[in-house]
Amino acid sequence: MYFCHFSGNFSENFISLPVWVEKGGQPSVIEKLNVVKFGGSSIRDSFWSALKLVEYLYESSNLVVVVSALRGVTEDLLLLAATRDREVLERISHQHLRLASRVGAEVENLLSELEKALNLPKTPEAEEYILSFGERLSAEIFAKALQNEGIEAVPIDARNFLMLRGCLGNAGIDYYASAPYVRKLGELAEEAVPVVTGFIGNLRGKTATLGRGGSDYTASAIGAILGANAVLIMSDVEGIYTADPRLVPRAKLIPFLSRERALMAAKLGMKALHPKTLEPLNGIPLFLGKTETWRLGTLVAEFGEEWPIVVHRVRNGFGEIAVVGRGYVRGFTPVERGWNYSLFRVPVEELPDAVNEIHEVVVNEGLSSSDHSELWARV
Ligand code: ASP
Ligand code: MG
Repeated sequence: MYFCHFSGNFSENFISLPVWVEKGGQPSVIEKLNVVKFGGSSIRDSFWSALKLVEYLYESSNLVVVVSALRGVTEDLLLLAATRDREVLERISHQHLRLASRVGAEVENLLSELEKALNLPKTPEAEEYILSFGERLSAEIFAKALQNEGIEAVPIDARNFLMLRGCLGNAGIDYYASAPYVRKLGELAEEAVPVVTGFIGNLRGKTATLGRGGSDYTASAIGAILGANAVLIMSDVEGIYTADPRLVPRAKLIPFLSRERALMAAKLGMKALHPKTLEPLNGIPLFLGKTETWRLGTLVAEFGEEWPIVVHRVRNGFGEIAVVGRGYVRGFTPVERGWNYSLFRVPVEELPDAVNEIHEVVVNEGLSSSDHSELWARV
């Protein structure tokens, strides 16, 4: 796999995307340090593939690993913060104890700390604090599992080094204030693999989150501060598609995407990336890939092929569909149009059909002539 020596015309350098990280192959050309983030479904459903990937990458580069909460846990923690329902606590505890016992991790202390938190008054501060347990639990478990594989891994609570600014509910990373601490993390990475909690940080001494999906942002901020070779966002999909592949079966994987277009798509509702993820990445390539298969399907960098992306979300009680990269879409009248996107609004129940229909038009107009399979090669 070819990550580094990124310069100028990357289409030449990266012509072989999507790539596999070759399981059991020779160590690749990755040097220095890479940041690898695993989403909640990876930790829950592709745990061993994630472990093996870290092991493999660590043979040839220093690593910082960033983890999300197990899939579904942040939802449960939100519910727990609102209801303080013991059954929800049981469910969360059970799920983590089961996984922890498989790898011999100790999570009892964290779980009893969570139980105590149920006595806190229902404030936004308490909610953020309760939300922090998802990532703290998965960092503990994942680090222990890496240790079992003979890797010196250390669970790291991001509240000790990621300084935030702004306010609760809308906090951003203060790169300047975080930099000295993050550099220490970089030093640690020369001897061990830090397994860092995504999503959370330190807002003037208090626990705060970066918003849903914020672990991507944690990873890119660390990558940017440490001048990483590359940031890998690993999940249960291979990368960024021309539409959400869970909703649009004919969506196509986009091998190269410009930062600008990815940013606009993320801001307009694309869920594959937290929108702030792209903010700190100054020239550092960002790969998106699937943990289970080790396939990296999309590279986001300064330049990319100009593929349109159809994104959707529910907003103000309406379904909203944005076509990024197109000021118009034949046969559809936008409610808003920018130089590089158009926006459509439909009743929520019509959203799935409308997204598919609009995607079909966009695909027929641009992409149908090639399935880009020629780009699929093994490196
Ligand atoms: N666990 C958090 C969430 O579900 C953060 C993340 O997954 O990136 O939003
Ligand atoms: Mg995510």
